[in-house]
Amino acid sequence: MRVLVTNDDGINSAGLHALVRTLEPETETYVVAPEHERSATGHAITLHKPLRAVPATLPGSRIKGWATNGTPADCVALGVLELLPGRPDVVISGINVGPNLGRDLTYSGTVSGAMEGAIFRIASIAVSVGAFRDTIFDVAAAFALRLVRQVAERGLPEDTLLNVNVPNLPKEQIKGVKLTRQGEKRYVSRLDKRTDPRGRAYYWLTGEPAPQQDVEGTDSWALAQGYISVTPIRLNMTDPEALTRLTGWRLAID
Ligand code: MN
Repeated sequence: MRVLVTNDDGINSAGLHALVRTLEPETETYVVAPEHERSATGHAITLHKPLRAVPATLPGSRIKGWATNGTPADCVALGVLELLPGRPDVVISGINVGPNLGRDLTYSGTVSGAMEGAIFRIASIAVSVGAFRDTIFDVAAAFALRLVRQVAERGLPEDTLLNVNVPNLPKEQIKGVKLTRQGEKRYVSRLDKRTDPRGRAYYWLTGEPAPQQDVEGTDSWALAQGYISVTPIRLNMTDPEALTRLTGWRLAID
C-alpha cells in the first residue's frame, strides 16, 4: 500500500514525524510537505511562481521525503503528478497540532491537503489533535494507521474525504470513536491595530473561539466528550435545502 503524507505545519513538525514513524513499517510511505508552516492557507495553490521540491530526510526515518515551497494542496499535486513512483492508494494530511472543527475547515491547510487527494480521486484523510501544547501524537498516529488500512480496503465514496480529530488525552482516557457531522464551532474575529517603528499602522488578525453549546453529534461535541471524531466531508458545496427554497425566488432576467 502506497501512502502519501502531507501536512500544513511543515516538514519539521513533530506531528508529521509521529505519523510517519507509525506508517513507515506498515506501508510504502512518502512525504511531500511544506518547508515551513502553512497553517490556515486553506486550499490555495501556487500558479504564479515556480514550485520547488527538495529531497528531505526525517528524523529516525529512512523514507523518501520532499520539502516544497508550496501549500499542502501543492504538495499533494506534486506528489501525485511527479514525485512518487506511482499513484498513492491513500493521501493522509497531518497530524496537525490543534483541532480542525466546524468553521476551521474553511481555513484549514490540513483538511485541504486531504481535499486535494480527493480531487485526484484518491481515498484521503485529514488528522488533527485537539491541543496546541503538550500534544500527544501516539494515539492519533495509531488510529490513522488503522483508518489508512480500512480506507485502502473499502475505499471512500467519490468526492468524500474523512476529517479526523483526536482528543489530546492518553489512550486510557479516550472513550472511543464517534462518526460525526461538521459542527458550528466559530470564532469572534479580532483585529489588533498596532504601530510600527516608523509610525505607520499595521494589523494583526486574530480570533477567539465564540462561546457556544456543542450540539450532540457534531465534531466539537465528540472531541469535548473525549471521543475521536470522524467526519465524512464532501468537496461539492451545494446546499440542497437552499436549492429547493430558492426555486420560489424570481430570478429571471428583466
Ligand atoms: Mn496546522
